[in-house]
Amino acid sequence: MTARRFVLLDRDGTLIVERNYLARVEDVELLPATARGLRLLHDAGLGLAVLTNQSGLGRGYFDWDALNAVHVRMTQLLADESIALDGIYVCPHTPEDNCDCRKPQLGLVRRAAAELHFDPAASFVIGDKPCDIELGRRIGAATFLVRTGYGAFGEQEGLRADYIVDDILAAAHIILERTERDLSFCAKR
Ligand SMILES: [Mg+2]
Ligand SMILES: [Zn+2]
Repeated sequence: MTARRFVLLDRDGTLIVERNYLARVEDVELLPATARGLRLLHDAGLGLAVLTNQSGLGRGYFDWDALNAVHVRMTQLLADESIALDGIYVCPHTPEDNCDCRKPQLGLVRRAAAELHFDPAASFVIGDKPCDIELGRRIGAATFLVRTGYGAFGEQEGLRADYIVDDILAAAHIILERTERDLSFCAKR
């Protein structure tokens, strides 16, 4: 029995609508493809962990209570669609803090992998920014740049990833193809 494979998800611009330093519960809005994309992944038995840089905490723009309220709201919106996340991991630091958890640093992945017991190199990383793609490269994961959020801008700027897709639903379809192919490959051996 091998460990469950995980999809490591960016939050802003990937799962929910990008707002500059989102801090208000009423501003939490799932992107159009999020529910269907996550349900496909969830139903296929993949783990779902959110890794998010929230420098608004370190900058004092909002506090942990506001952030937690946002996450409660996002979790409720997903629960309404029968989707449960395995974990949400937050870097609260600013770039000047030089922490080890602000993506593309690996602190959040290490914490998630230790708590949720998965192999980072066998995971899939989905995000809309260079830091997401760079994080995925560093752990040897398959990387997906979505064109939602800042993704279309990054694509225009020449940002490269293993896959560039319109949204998380398109990423989910590719991930399912890949995991099924890997499974049939194992079964034949
Ligand atoms: Mg983002
Ligand atoms: Zn950090």
